Amino acid sequence: MRLPVLNGDGGREKQPFSGHTLQKHSRLRGAILTHSVCPYCAVGCSTNIFTKQGQVIDIEGNPASPINEGTLCPKGANIFQLQNNPHRAKRVLHRRPGAKEWEVVTLDWALDRIAVLIKDSRERGYEEKTEKGRRLNAVKNIGTLGGATLDNEENYLMKKLFGAGLQIVSIENQARI
Ligand code: SF4
Repeated sequence: MRLPVLNGDGGREKQPFSGHTLQKHSRLRGAILTHSVCPYCAVGCSTNIFTKQGQVIDIEGNPASPINEGTLCPKGANIFQLQNNPHRAKRVLHRRPGAKEWEVVTLDWALDRIAVLIKDSRERGYEEKTEKGRRLNAVKNIGTLGGATLDNEENYLMKKLFGAGLQIVSIENQARI
């Protein structure tokens, strides 16, 4: 096969390319670009998420971000596996007290179960006043631990619910530990 000779380099040395090579292009061509933020830590690196036909095909650092200027640390560079992972749990699993096996339950059942347990624990742990009679309004037998994949709005709601709503004292997030 005769190789085409291209001169796309301003008159510098001509380079041969096969027809096959000329057909090649970036796998990101035609993809929809959406900006987002790495979910893993408080640095808040910006990401470019590329999708085709509703599927995420690639996630990279955003060069326009003043935070990370297109880079991602090794953990952030693997965000794609967070979204696209055969080991990702997609069903709610519950192991009853003393049971050896996990069983699949509905999300509604799990939420009801969590609500009942939190209410029960809170009623046992709520302290309205100190031993000296001073107002306390504290719940010390429940703690919350948020994850780095929570966004600002979710963290705001957690703080409102657990702190102001339920008077839970121990509110923490894994992202700053
Ligand atoms: S985990 Fe890495 S890439 Fe993600 S925000 Fe933190 S430093 Fe940036």
